[in-house]
Amino acid sequence: MYYKAKKLATENGRPYHLAAILRRRGKVIKIGANTSKTHPRFGRVYEDGTKKYHMHAEMNVLRFAQAGDTLEVMRFHKTGLAMAKPCHLCMGHIKNSGIKHVRYTTESGTWKEIRI
Ligand SMILES: [Zn+2]
Repeated sequence: MYYKAKKLATENGRPYHLAAILRRRGKVIKIGANTSKTHPRFGRVYEDGTKKYHMHAEMNVLRFAQAGDTLEVMRFHKTGLAMAKPCHLCMGHIKNSGIKHVRYTTESGTWKEIRI
């Protein structure tokens, strides 16, 4: 499973390689990576005023989320795992989706958990 997520993330053509796995009662529902594809629902305005709509890995799977699901977010680096804590924008969508449990990788290669 993580192999598939890693493959998806490392071949995404982006400078950052993130993958998100949506689970329901332990079963994998959807795997997504961050992409350069855009989505108007997930726009953000940067400090210089430009608008960008790149899809974060979390956003790619949140469309399929149901209340009570678990979300795992991982970031792959040449040397291993890296910090994949969801940004505040993604956290807002995660909360709205009813997800109760988020796990994400850290630069030390371990997982951290957020209970919502
Ligand atoms: Zn995000």
